[in-house]
This record gives sequence, C-alpha cells and structure tokens, in this order.
Amino acid sequence: MAKIIANPLRVDEPADVLRFVVANTLGALLASELLTLAICYALGGDVGGGSLVAAAVPLGLVPPIAARVARMSLRHSMATAELERLVRRDTMTEAFNRRGLSEIASITLAAGKPLTAIIVDIDHFKAINDRYGHEAGDAVVIGVAESLQGLADKYGGAVGRLGGDEFCVLLGDEPGLSMLEYCERIRVTIDGCAFDWFDEPLGVTVSIGAARSDANDRALADLLRRADAELYRSKSAGRNCVSVTRAA
Ligand code: GH3
Ligand code: MG
Repeated sequence: MAKIIANPLRVDEPADVLRFVVANTLGALLASELLTLAICYALGGDVGGGSLVAAAVPLGLVPPIAARVARMSLRHSMATAELERLVRRDTMTEAFNRRGLSEIASITLAAGKPLTAIIVDIDHFKAINDRYGHEAGDAVVIGVAESLQGLADKYGGAVGRLGGDEFCVLLGDEPGLSMLEYCERIRVTIDGCAFDWFDEPLGVTVSIGAARSDANDRALADLLRRADAELYRSKSAGRNCVSVTRAA
C-alpha cells in the first residue's frame, strides 16, 4: 500500500505489476466517476446510470493496457539493474571488479570510516596454466573467488578481482577477526582447498598483502599502493604467507 502511495508508476520487480495495474485502474475509475458526477450534476442527468457507464470504461480498458505498460517497464527496470550489476562485477567470478571496489572504497573513505584492503595473489599461477591449460587456470580463479566469498559471508568484507590472479577483499569496520587473523584465515583456507579439474585435485597457495586506511586516503589506489608493497614482501619471503602494514 505504501508503495502505491509512494510511486505507483515504478515497476522494479514482478510483484509491482499487480500493484501498478490496481493503482492505475483505481485512479482511472475515480477520475471517471468524478467527471461523470460533475457532468450529471451540471446537466441534471441520471447519476446512477452515469456512474455505471463511468465504471465500465476504465474497468474494461485500463487493466489490459496497464498490464502491458507494467510488463514493459519491468523489462526495462530489470535490464537497467543487470547493466548496473555488470558495470561493477567481474564476469568470470561474479566478484566486484576494480570499478566496483573503487566505488565502495570512495564511499567508505568519504564517510570517514576505516577501511582495510587485502590483496590476495595466487602463487605461481602461470605454472597452473602452463601445466593444465588456461581453462584449468580459470577454474582455479573461480574457486579462489568462491573461497574468498565464503569467508566474506562469514566474517564480512567485499570481494573483488583486480585482474588476472589477483583479488582484493575490502574490510570495513566489521567486528570479529582482526586484519591479521582475517588474512591468515584466507591463506589457510586456500592452502587447504583442492579445486577439481577432471578428477585431478589442483592445489594452490596465495600470498597476501594488507593495509589499513589512514586519514589522508581518498581512494582505493591509495590503499592498494601500500597493500601491494606488503604483497611484494610476502612474495619475497617465499610466498604462501601474509604481510600487513605495521599499523595493524
Ligand atoms: P607469482 O607467484 O609471482 O604471483 O607468479 P604467477 O605465475 O602467479 O604470476 P604471473 O604474473 O607471472 O602470471 C600470472 C598469469 O596469469 C599470467 C597470465 O597469463 C595469467 N592470467 C591472467 N588472467 C588470467 C585468466 O583470466 N585466466 C587464466 N587462466 N590465466 C590468466
Ligand atoms: Mg600470482
């Protein structure tokens, strides 16, 4: 009911179609009855008969037309929503893409809230491609994204793919695990995973670099610069390990 009053012309989901038809039919009915009443009083005609005619026209005409318009509007709304999703998502993994992550970071930082960026990079990923083929590599990328999403569902965070075999988890001020604990949880989880590839279990490890925002940070790039330096330290230290900024 509140939605009819708020905006009866919006059709964002299938349930809105019926609301749209009912709201428009009632509106047309009311307008038709008022107009007929006014005419009857002005000309001195039969109000009862006029009222029946006034009801018949909108009840017969409006529902089929409104239903058609609502379905067109629904298709448009769904296409727009899908476009907006695609603009912010990586098509292979369904994780956020760099643009999606950047928007989350900018909004969080502009609100003065703390943010942590955790970069997760698959170790020796090229060797998976070389040995098992590019499709096996893709399956590993998708598997790692799913593992990260599983942890984000449990402990919070937004998962994105920066490109290739590199991911980023953005953590807000979620209670629970510390940044270091979260990173370790990621490392151990991926280390313990075997991604199925035609009965061959593919195991990978990841190196992780993480940084927390400071007062001067305005954009994702500011955070990623420091997280990337930490990632470099993890790779240099022999991979399958975690490095975080000292502020952690
Ligand atoms: P390191 O341990 O230093 O991270 O080494 P690495 O082999 O993981 O990293 P490197 O940058 O040398 O190689 C990454 C490879 O990932 C190279 C590129 O061909 C491959 N790659 C990038 N995007 C994709 C993708 O979407 N699918 C697959 N299968 N491979 C990809
Ligand atoms: Mg790598």
